[in-house]
Amino acid sequence: MRIPIIAGNWKMNKTTSETRAFCPEFIKLIDNVKGVEIVIAPPFTALSAAGDAIRDTIIKLSAQNIFWEEKGAYTGEISPLMLKEIGCGYCIIGHSERRQYFGETDDTVNKKIKTALNYEITPVFCIGEILKEREENRTMAVIGRQLKGGLRDLLESDISRIVIAYEPVWAIGTGKTATPQQAQEAHRFIRDFIRKKAGDKAADGIRILYGGSVTPENIKDLMAQDDIDGALVGGASLKPDSFAAIVRFS
Ligand code: PEP
Repeated sequence: MRIPIIAGNWKMNKTTSETRAFCPEFIKLIDNVKGVEIVIAPPFTALSAAGDAIRDTIIKLSAQNIFWEEKGAYTGEISPLMLKEIGCGYCIIGHSERRQYFGETDDTVNKKIKTALNYEITPVFCIGEILKEREENRTMAVIGRQLKGGLRDLLESDISRIVIAYEPVWAIGTGKTATPQQAQEAHRFIRDFIRKKAGDKAADGIRILYGGSVTPENIKDLMAQDDIDGALVGGASLKPDSFAAIVRFS
């Protein structure tokens, strides 16, 4: 059985003091929740404060990016060792905003996934097509290429430690969610890809999250799909009540 994951990507939102205010309120709202993994991904500057605030709760901590070296002359980067030390168990890798604005490629994504795995940080590996690619019926070709590049040279045992997030770029922050059927079709394609690359055990165990304008109103229909194992939530994860309502989808 795949345990669902609901992960909140705060992007470049919330200062340290805003993070300190969010956490206790959110913790209260998810009291008694069981059977779901809850993850928050604050910006780097708020990770430590978030880590302190969620200690001894079921909430886990994620970074939004990672560099592939442990230390050295890489101005502005954050290493896996630094993330590990403050208790980051997850890291979002290859988010479309990083691909779009910061030159992230399938190659750098692949390096970052390997690094995270080496440090026992679970990569939340993001893939997804832009609107033009969907309109030209190239969705599966694009996510197939991203999967192939991002997972290059990984062993079957590594692949089963990854979480994949399918995030159609046209649905991120736009209020335009993929229909449950569109999302399911992409998720099935991804699981079939993993089956061919890494076998049944990895394919049946890997968690594939949907991301793109997830709200308390649409989460239930998305989660009812066979191959959707959770959500990566942007905007709706910034308020304790809407994020808690998504966590409580069942
Ligand atoms: C995201 O940041 O990954 C995301 C899906 O954002 P939103 O939920 O705001 O569309």
